[in-house]
Amino acid sequence: MKKIKLKRIKLIGAVLVVTFCTWVLVGIGIWINVKITNWRRLSEIEGVSEGSYQTFSKFIGDIESQTNWSVKIISGLRSRERQKELLKENSKNASADKSRHVQGRAIDINLYQKNWLWRVWLKKYNSKKDWRNTGVVRISEKYGLLWGGSYHNYHDPVHFEIR
Ligand SMILES: [Zn+2]
Repeated sequence: MKKIKLKRIKLIGAVLVVTFCTWVLVGIGIWINVKITNWRRLSEIEGVSEGSYQTFSKFIGDIESQTNWSVKIISGLRSRERQKELLKENSKNASADKSRHVQGRAIDINLYQKNWLWRVWLKKYNSKKDWRNTGVVRISEKYGLLWGGSYHNYHDPVHFEIR
C-alpha cells in the first residue's frame, strides 16, 4: 500500500517537473523569438535609413525602460509588392507610393507584459485608450512620431511613423 502511494507521488512530481521545464523553455523560446524578430526588422530599416533605425531603436528602448511593457515589432520595412497586396486586402491601407513602411519610416508593434504565468498582449484590436494607458503614445510624441491611433478613418494603434 505504502509503495503504491510513494509511486504515485513520484509520478505527480515528475509530471510537475516536466510541466515546469516546458513552461520555462517555451518562455525562453518566445523571448528569443521576439528579440531576433526585432533585431531583424530593425536591421532591415537600417539598410534603408540610418536615421529611422536610430529613432526606432531609441523609441523601443524607452518603452522597455520607462513602461512595464515589452515590444515585438510585427512589421517594419515592406516591399512595394507586399504593400500592394495589403492594399488589395484592405482598401484603407496605404498605397505603395504613400506607405511609410515602404520607405522604412514606419513600424507596427505589439506590446506584451508578463503575468507570473503567461503574457498579456496589446494588439491592433485593443482600444486607443488601452494603448494610451501604456505610456507608449506619450513616448512616441517625444520623438515626434505620428501614431496610427490618431487617424480618424482607420483604427491602427500599432502603427508609429516618422513624419
Ligand atoms: Zn503600419
